[in-house]
Amino acid sequence: MGKIAVFPGSFDPLTNGHLDIIKRASRIFDEVIVAMFINQSKKPLFTIEERVKLIEDVTKTFGNVSVDYSTGLLIDFVKKKNASVIVRGLRPGDFEYELQNATMNRKLDDSIESFFLMTNPEYSFLSSSIVKEAAKHHANIENFVPKPIAKALVEKFS
Ligand code: ADP
Repeated sequence: MGKIAVFPGSFDPLTNGHLDIIKRASRIFDEVIVAMFINQSKKPLFTIEERVKLIEDVTKTFGNVSVDYSTGLLIDFVKKKNASVIVRGLRPGDFEYELQNATMNRKLDDSIESFFLMTNPEYSFLSSSIVKEAAKHHANIENFVPKPIAKALVEKFS
């Protein structure tokens, strides 16, 4: 059986930084599942259905990437999908938060490994929230997100 990795996140919306991690993970693992998790404390701009459709659209050429979502616990989702790896991207400042999550996940199930890919320096400043802030004020965001997502952001704020 091939190695299946889950890349969890909010992806509200997906940025070029996320896409770079997906692309690199898809070269390392046999299968990558991009999974949205419902975070009750964050009010999302895009619905789950909108985010799933947009990510499917921009990853359809990869061949081994699929998109899903869950309202449950990450570790349970990973096990349900027969995956053994959790992929996360690391930007400057992400380390402590990621270490806390990875440690908790290891305590919950130590057969599942957290795997970190360093941000591409070109995207190290990029986050969904900074892109949303720029789009809200009608700045040009085409260098920061894939085209269909730039279009969806312009529509949200028009
Ligand atoms: P979460 O709310 O789970 O942090 P995000 O959608 O913000 O969800 O991020 C999902 C994952 O993508 C995280 O591992 C985050 O560190 C990573 N990530 C976000 N932006 C970038 C970027 N510009 N470069 C590399 N990794 C990134």
